[in-house]
Amino acid sequence: MSFCPNCGQPLTRKIPPGDHLLRYVCTACGTIHYQNPRIIAGCVIETEGKLLLCKRAIEPRLGYWTHPAGFMENGESVAQGAAREAMEEALAKVKIGSLLSIVNVLHAHQVHITYRATLAEPGYGVGVESLETRLYDEAEIPWQDIAFLSVRFALQRYLEDRRLGVERMHGQDIDWQHGKLVTTER
Ligand SMILES: [Zn+2]
Repeated sequence: MSFCPNCGQPLTRKIPPGDHLLRYVCTACGTIHYQNPRIIAGCVIETEGKLLLCKRAIEPRLGYWTHPAGFMENGESVAQGAAREAMEEALAKVKIGSLLSIVNVLHAHQVHITYRATLAEPGYGVGVESLETRLYDEAEIPWQDIAFLSVRFALQRYLEDRRLGVERMHGQDIDWQHGKLVTTER
């Protein structure tokens, strides 16, 4: 960030009075522009015992598989965002169920929140952000070609819980430490 979104004048970095972190502060109007994590809302969709996955048509991780997920919009709940992403990426009308996972992706300044879901209506398709969508049996899931660690975590925990007949909420932190990505279950 170089210029103030409010007034267009240059920004500087400083710690405002009473704060403890460097912030972008406008040199003209004085507005403090806070930067906070963004929420990615998603859902693991099950139908007929299979999971609906999407092959990404966009970077990052183009060509890799994910459950529907994307940035939340203002004015929607996390669950609404997850359902909207299912429609956009897989043309799937879903019924959102229980909370599956919260993954803090610390280095990316993101929080990935994923729900369990089922198809509210039969049928699905290929949204503009997907190259392909398909239903996977547990044994067929392309673990080598999963787009993100948070997606792998959600799918793994989903399947473990399904085997046990439970619906728990799982937490994970992902961060770079000493040059490699470290995951910690919470
Ligand atoms: Zn300003």
